[in-house]
Amino acid sequence: MEKIKCYRSPKTEVRQSNIGGVGLFAKDNISKGEIVFIKAGHIVQYKEAMKCNKDIGEFDVQISDDFFLVPKSKDEIKDLVVHFNHSCNPNAGPDGQITFTAIRNICKGEEITCDYATITTYPYKLECNCGNKECRKVITGDDWKLKELQERYGNHFSWFILKKIKGL
Ligand SMILES: [Zn+2]
Repeated sequence: MEKIKCYRSPKTEVRQSNIGGVGLFAKDNISKGEIVFIKAGHIVQYKEAMKCNKDIGEFDVQISDDFFLVPKSKDEIKDLVVHFNHSCNPNAGPDGQITFTAIRNICKGEEITCDYATITTYPYKLECNCGNKECRKVITGDDWKLKELQERYGNHFSWFILKKIKGL
């Protein structure tokens, strides 16, 4: 049986990143609105997701208040992890739960990033050294509540966060 894999646009590639570890990069120009990747993984709940993060690495993507997509073994990392990094000034964002699109035009060679505030609500704290003037220095699971970010990203929040923001 064919393995389940994340989709990465053919205009992207995974390579070493200055932000940390490996990252996803544009190997061609990508227009605003184009799909850059679609996340896949095992559907698990919070407790199991945190266990996978501890055992395998922090590769979860939250898709609802208590559901996450994760790899369950190190062997699955290459297929089930997209390798996008966080930035406080990202060029991609969620369009739904698992689809991520370019939120502005992305030039060949740029690293493709997403603001974790747009996809995450569970408690965590991460130091950020993204180097942008917008850098929040510390990012947390509460950042989606920041009015400034809600205005900046508009509909580019994962749907379960968007519903909270819009009171739906
Ligand atoms: Zn930052």
